[in-house]
Amino acid sequence: MNTTMHSHIETILWSEDQISRRVSELAAEVSADFASCSVAPIVVGVATGAFLFLADFVRKIDFSVSVDFVRAESYGSGTESNGAPTISLDLKVDINARHVILVEDIVDTGHTLSRVIKHLKSKGASSVSVCTFLDKPSRRKVNVQLVGEGKFYRGFECPDCFVVGYGMDFAEQYRNLPYIGVLKPELYE
Ligand code: 5GP
Ligand code: MG
Repeated sequence: MNTTMHSHIETILWSEDQISRRVSELAAEVSADFASCSVAPIVVGVATGAFLFLADFVRKIDFSVSVDFVRAESYGSGTESNGAPTISLDLKVDINARHVILVEDIVDTGHTLSRVIKHLKSKGASSVSVCTFLDKPSRRKVNVQLVGEGKFYRGFECPDCFVVGYGMDFAEQYRNLPYIGVLKPELYE
């Protein structure tokens, strides 16, 4: 290979260090909020984008949690989802009457999160909190309704641009970038 993926990045929005510091803060906040629960929450990652954040996040939580994944797919094209995601990979763990922390890479329109929350609710979760690394509130199309006493945690507010890295892809590439950035415009075409 004659170019590295790093040379495809136009701007770095959050460095590895900034990400790591923020993940620790989020995990500390969540650990404190759930410390008094008699049964530990179940952490559910939304595949594939949340895999790195999930891995870093759970390693900073100071009690034992169950970890599972769901996958929601919306057959949109390019950099936009189509608003009708379906659950294509389901949970293995029983979440009935349990507190769930849903871990996402980024919330954009809110369609994916809303669909997954509805699914977790139908499986009997007593509460669903959301912990998303990035949030693009300016692009929200549906209001995300948490379940029970669920709380919303986010790492950073993301500007209205398509980002890659730290789990997030463009055409299934760049997920393994250790930082979050924006690709050179010619690469999005
Ligand atoms: P939503 O359903 O909220 O519109 O979008 C959620 C999903 O779209 C995210 O989980 C993520 O997979 C994808 N997505 C939204 N914005 C971005 C972005 O800026 N970069 C990348 N790589 N994926 C995004
Ligand atoms: Mg995602």
